[in-house]
Amino acid sequence: MMVGMKLPKPEKLRIHLHPDPVLRKVAKPVSDFPAELEAVARRMLELMRREEGVGLAAPQVGLSIRLFVCNVDGDAKRDLICINPRFITLEGAEEKEEGCLSLPSVKVLMRRATHAVMEAHDLSGRTFRAEGDGLAARVWQHESDHLDGRLIIDNMSATDEIANRRALKQLKTDYPA
Ligand code: ZN
Repeated sequence: MMVGMKLPKPEKLRIHLHPDPVLRKVAKPVSDFPAELEAVARRMLELMRREEGVGLAAPQVGLSIRLFVCNVDGDAKRDLICINPRFITLEGAEEKEEGCLSLPSVKVLMRRATHAVMEAHDLSGRTFRAEGDGLAARVWQHESDHLDGRLIIDNMSATDEIANRRALKQLKTDYPA
C-alpha cells in the first residue's frame, strides 16, 4: 500500500483551489505502485485537459503524494506521468508568466530553468529519465513545486500582487465553495 493512504475512486477526484491546505503540504513519496494508481493518473489527465491545463499535480486533486501528470502539446501520445520526480539537471533561466489550475485568473511572472533533466518512476515503479526544454522544463518545475507545497503566489513581485489582488481575494471568499 501507499504510505498508509487509501486511493479514492478516480471519478471522485476534483481540482482543489487555493487556499485549500492540501496544496501546502509536502507530499509523500510513492512507495508502492498498485493498479489503482493508473486510474488516478488517467483521471488527473482528464481533469487537466478539461481545464485546458498542461500539468496537474496530485495535491491539486487532494492527494498528498509525489505524482504529477503533464502534456505540453496536447498529443495524448505524449501524456507524461511522473512519480517521485527529482531533477538531475536544471540549467538556464527565463522569466515567463505562469498560471495554475488551483489559482484561476492568477498569473505570476516566474523565473525558471530552461533546460531540465528529470528522473522519475513510471506507473510500474520503473525509473526513467526525461529531458526537456522551454515549456516542458517549466511545467515540470511548476508541478514539482506543488509536491513541496509551493505555489506561484509565493513568488509575487509588487506588480504581480497588484494585478492578482482581486482574483486572490475572490478565491478566499469562495473557499470553501
Ligand atoms: Zn499549479
